[in-house]
Amino acid sequence: MDAAPVRMIFLITFPLEQQIRDIYLKYSQQTIKYEKQIEENDISDINRGLLARSIFSRNTGRIITLSANEDAAAGYKCTNKKPIYPLFVTVNNLPPKLRFDQNNLILASLWFNKGKPNMALFHKKFVLELQRLHNGMQIEAQTYKIVLLQCCLDSIGRCELFCSKQFNGRYGCTICMHPGKLVCKQMKYPYQRAKLREDVTTRRLMIQVEEFETREPRFGIKGLSVLVGLPEFDIIKGLPVDYTHMALLGITRTIWEILVENSSGNIQRLRNTSIVKKTIGDRFTSMRLPSSFSRRMRKPDEYLKFKASEWETILLHCIYPCLADLLPATYMNNVMMFATVVFLLLELNISRSTLLKCQKLMDQFVEDFEKLYGESFMLYNVHLSGHLVQNGRNLGALRNSLSSRMKTETVC
Ligand SMILES: [Zn+2]
Repeated sequence: MDAAPVRMIFLITFPLEQQIRDIYLKYSQQTIKYEKQIEENDISDINRGLLARSIFSRNTGRIITLSANEDAAAGYKCTNKKPIYPLFVTVNNLPPKLRFDQNNLILASLWFNKGKPNMALFHKKFVLELQRLHNGMQIEAQTYKIVLLQCCLDSIGRCELFCSKQFNGRYGCTICMHPGKLVCKQMKYPYQRAKLREDVTTRRLMIQVEEFETREPRFGIKGLSVLVGLPEFDIIKGLPVDYTHMALLGITRTIWEILVENSSGNIQRLRNTSIVKKTIGDRFTSMRLPSSFSRRMRKPDEYLKFKASEWETILLHCIYPCLADLLPATYMNNVMMFATVVFLLLELNISRSTLLKCQKLMDQFVEDFEKLYGESFMLYNVHLSGHLVQNGRNLGALRNSLSSRMKTETVC
């Protein structure tokens, strides 16, 4: 009898220390200048968000904060046709333009296997090195403490890394305790202000699940996340909602499909869809966007191929002039509430009063969304949008928490 085939795992890890040192030294002058420019009361930059502030207040001495970034859905293809799953790191102390430049991304690990990575194995070396660097690393004559502030992933990757149920399971939200509700045998998230998860209680819950014989999930938690090993890492606030997948490839596309493509079949939002689609197509092709936009708008017929940056352009610049006179005002108002919050959270200057205004608008957007489209359209992404402002408060502008997919599409 043949033995079962041995499954080989291909994983490469790259030491972080020298890469961090090289990048920090290369841009030390720009970084010092940038630090002086940031307004102390503004929280748009990630190192001025509440998460970074609490770390700075607990520590003395110099600190370099990092963001990790991975994209399960992208599965970068290479010549051997196997997907590559990368783990990138950015140095948050750098000015945003340099921070998000592809040449300044630090490569931490590569996973070369079909299917989703084993998150514990994939992040093991990364976590161990960050534990060591938290004790301090030398850059010229100074000692710097290294702290990871956030891991940006799409929803599937975030739940895997958090070791919790996905969007289709009970308690699938990594940020709050919304239980979900089965509507036509699918998990939906009707409007509800659920209790937020907390770092300390979630760690306790993870240990309880690990120690329990049956390892039965509790409140969506399936076990211990590898991230609990990271010093000073908040396992709730440090795993933000991914703007790219949630807001652009998620909600904006969903709204488009419901309103323009009439994909739901039984909801006719626009009268005589074929004529309206032609009108929208004509308006799209006649729009002249400023030269700073990286690509021209494609025809609406090609919407299945639209990239995240195209959905962003539609949401912020095209949807109102193209649809406002074709939709009932209640629907347009709902879309514009969402667009307004996204626009304000992308800004380089975010004040506390802006965040308060955004939270009110976003709550209203989610509540009205359910009234307009019904419970069956209360998708996971619509629920997550309610957490977007909270992410802004903790980690600054949305630009700070982009997935690697969006970073490769846009040059900041
Ligand atoms: Zn939630």
